[in-house]
Amino acid sequence: MRLTIDARPVEVPEGATVLDAVNRLGIDLPQLCKDPDRPPLGACRTCLVEVEGQRGFPASCHLPAREGMAVRTDTPGVLRLRRGVLDLTRSMLVAGDGRDGFGQLGEAATRHGLDAPSWAPLHRSAVDDSKSFFVLDREACILCGRCTTACDDVQRIGAISLLGRGHAERVGVFGDGAMASSICTSCGQCVATCPTGALRPKEAPARIERRVETTCPYCGVGCGIVSAVRDDGRLAVMADDVPQNHSSEGMLCVKGRFGTGFLHAKDRVVRPMVRRDGRWAPVSWDEALDAAAAGLARHRGRFGALASAKATNEDGYLIQKLCRAVMGTNSVDHCTRLCHSPSVEAMLTSMGSGATSNSYVDYEEAGCLMIVGADASANHPVIAIRFRRAHARGARIVVVNPKRIELCDYAHVWIRQHPGTDVALFNAMARVILAEGLWDEGFVRARTEGFDAWRAAVLPYTPERGEALTGVPAADIVQAARWYARPPFAGSCLIWGMGITQHTNGTANSHALLNLALLTGQLGKPGNGISPLRGQNNVQGCGDAGCIPTNLPGYQHYDDATLAKFERAWGVRPPAEPGLVVTDMVEGCLDGRIRAMYVVGENPLLSEPDLHHAGKAISQLDCLVVQDLFLHETAELAHVFLPAAGFAEKEGTFTNSERRVQRVRRVLDPAGDARPDWWITAELAKRVARRLGLPAGGFEYRDAAAVWDEMAGLVPFLAGISHARLDQEGGLQWPCPAPDHPGTRYLYGESFPRGLGKFVPVTQGEAAAELPDPDYPFILNTGRLLYHWHGGTITRRVPGLLELEPRLRVAIHPMDARRLRLHDGDAVRVTSRRGELEGFARLTDDVRPGAVFVPFVKLAESAANFLTNSAHDPTSKIPEYKVCAVRVEPVRADAGARPASIGAPGA
Ligand code: SF4
Ligand code: SF4
Repeated sequence: MRLTIDARPVEVPEGATVLDAVNRLGIDLPQLCKDPDRPPLGACRTCLVEVEGQRGFPASCHLPAREGMAVRTDTPGVLRLRRGVLDLTRSMLVAGDGRDGFGQLGEAATRHGLDAPSWAPLHRSAVDDSKSFFVLDREACILCGRCTTACDDVQRIGAISLLGRGHAERVGVFGDGAMASSICTSCGQCVATCPTGALRPKEAPARIERRVETTCPYCGVGCGIVSAVRDDGRLAVMADDVPQNHSSEGMLCVKGRFGTGFLHAKDRVVRPMVRRDGRWAPVSWDEALDAAAAGLARHRGRFGALASAKATNEDGYLIQKLCRAVMGTNSVDHCTRLCHSPSVEAMLTSMGSGATSNSYVDYEEAGCLMIVGADASANHPVIAIRFRRAHARGARIVVVNPKRIELCDYAHVWIRQHPGTDVALFNAMARVILAEGLWDEGFVRARTEGFDAWRAAVLPYTPERGEALTGVPAADIVQAARWYARPPFAGSCLIWGMGITQHTNGTANSHALLNLALLTGQLGKPGNGISPLRGQNNVQGCGDAGCIPTNLPGYQHYDDATLAKFERAWGVRPPAEPGLVVTDMVEGCLDGRIRAMYVVGENPLLSEPDLHHAGKAISQLDCLVVQDLFLHETAELAHVFLPAAGFAEKEGTFTNSERRVQRVRRVLDPAGDARPDWWITAELAKRVARRLGLPAGGFEYRDAAAVWDEMAGLVPFLAGISHARLDQEGGLQWPCPAPDHPGTRYLYGESFPRGLGKFVPVTQGEAAAELPDPDYPFILNTGRLLYHWHGGTITRRVPGLLELEPRLRVAIHPMDARRLRLHDGDAVRVTSRRGELEGFARLTDDVRPGAVFVPFVKLAESAANFLTNSAHDPTSKIPEYKVCAVRVEPVRADAGARPASIGAPGA
């Protein structure tokens, strides 16, 4: 459609509003209640215009554009009226008290010649500063409704709404209490959209020098963020969202929005250091790299590396290349071993690929979401928003989790199985699907193998037997099976987290799930698929880049042809024998198989199970080189510390949970002498190679893009991606085999990488390696928190996040607490056969009687992994973080007294 605005021609598509046309021309028209990325609300009436041949002054946000329309924004009549509206609006606000010009409203009022409001405000209200990152200042609020819409329609949280009527109308929370008393998760979506600064960050206003679009450094969702650099060279506390990012679509959680300040932590180490006479000595890069190279070169072949799933793909690629091309070993691993290695093992066996098959958008198109052992609201908050949206569209939500999680509020069925009985549960569901003829026989016959043997294995698992083994009512098993196999519309997505993988039977659990997907054909189409939710921001990319001991980059095998390909590229043939996984490396430190380690961006002395044992092992090393931002628990044992640049101080890429490769951009100069990881690893590799008399030329790189190009040249599914293309087009999902390939939304549409999908029969074994007994009568469950990231190494250095979750809280059922004479907030000690920790009781029926939950984060020297069991899954080697037996006792003020008696829980 063609129309004119202020006599300037403009063209807009069908369905556009006049305000869209105004904005297309860049005309500065007030639009206070209009979020640029949301439909119009029509609440503020400041976008008034005049239309030739039409009476009145309509709000342009609600006026459909028509062919031939002649619109004016600047006639005396419309200016007078708009000025009046702005004056009235401005009069709602109280000046002073450090308010900063009232944002967009202040600017619009000034442009319309309003110095001061004509009327006195009718309401006074104290600032609500109960949240750690932002305030709600009702005296600067114009009741436009943008914040409540953001909370309801974007985040689907519903923490704030417009309360009251008339002059008493205000933004508030349920019960009219302080913001901190509400269900608000501090995502900041409301702050980002508020046009007046009524919702604003607590950080004092600063001049912003520049804004750079990059990728969130926390979880595997991979949200786009815009980091702002202040004139004093620091990152602003609040990052903005990126509406055009396909993975996050303008949504963020508290960590991505407010959690990047750890880069400026006072205790960040920004000088290379070597240990001399037991003390750290700052040295030059030359000295530090020489010391590290000398230590590593002494132990070629008895060496292991731990790469970082928080670092970039380029960083990871060079770490594994250092191991394979210089150190003569495939012993390189990363944290996937400790979270999703069972999923990857099972998917490689059954499908031939270890990645999520679908995209996030499929969660919103599916008719059923089965969410297993994944507390997405805490771990992957932006994905949880998509789950809530799916619920609003009518999708059936099946939550499988022994612990109550936020998504249980949306669940049509909540399956609360006994810990460690997942195989029995999924086999019983499969039995229902078979018995009721709900399986996809065509898919099974054409696309899979191993069906008959698998069917024989699941037939004994009737719903009644499933109930006896799992404690889940048979009717719930049947209902969940029906919804998963035959959702009310579209397909079903199977989504799982560490709740089923961190077990001694983690690989069997994963197979039991994958068998359900194969049986029902719920993969390979829009609106269905299989999704292990990846933990760290780049855990997918770290595996893709080859930081696993079992495969070369791109999950390529150690066969002759592939080894020859890598030899041609690197000038050195990689070893053909698989290396050690991280849990075996820890044991290797004790038995001499490992004498030197290179640990990048990881802290095994917080993430390994049974920390006392892990500490003893790592302290045996002859050479430990740690490369990181902070002197964490592992770094304290190191011989050389190499200071790394943080995510906002370097170039590169992350690959998120939906296989989308996205750019990471340098926003700041590296602090002090810190350097990008890829640069440090390349320099280290050259020096080690020279000492060993090996070719060192394979580590000369111009920049991170050159590292990417070498990797993409060796990994067929990345071949079509380059930094330049990502800069131009935004993130791309692999497989992307050619520069003109658009990327791949979902896998397995036509076939599986291994040919046919493979059913793998699994049966229910022992629920766990260690179960409660009279000495240790509780079951311990562990997991993550919304306000901290994993062990908390970086989130503990963000004061606002620490304020939101300052203490280690141990969740315990009120019945058990009564028996132990524990009250909410009481100090409590949790002891296992391996160690103990102290925290504070949180009384909640989120956990069952007899169970306790301790988060992974380390606070006040207490960490869950002092308790956990290093017993591991034989296939994937993942430790059993999710189940062990513990004792719980109050810590009384009179510490010498024997704690209250500890009988059988739940009694
Ligand atoms: S707090 Fe801001 S966004 Fe919310 S209604 Fe008031 S002015 Fe609008
Ligand atoms: S959901 Fe994950 S990637 Fe997105 S902002 Fe939060 S922590 Fe960052």
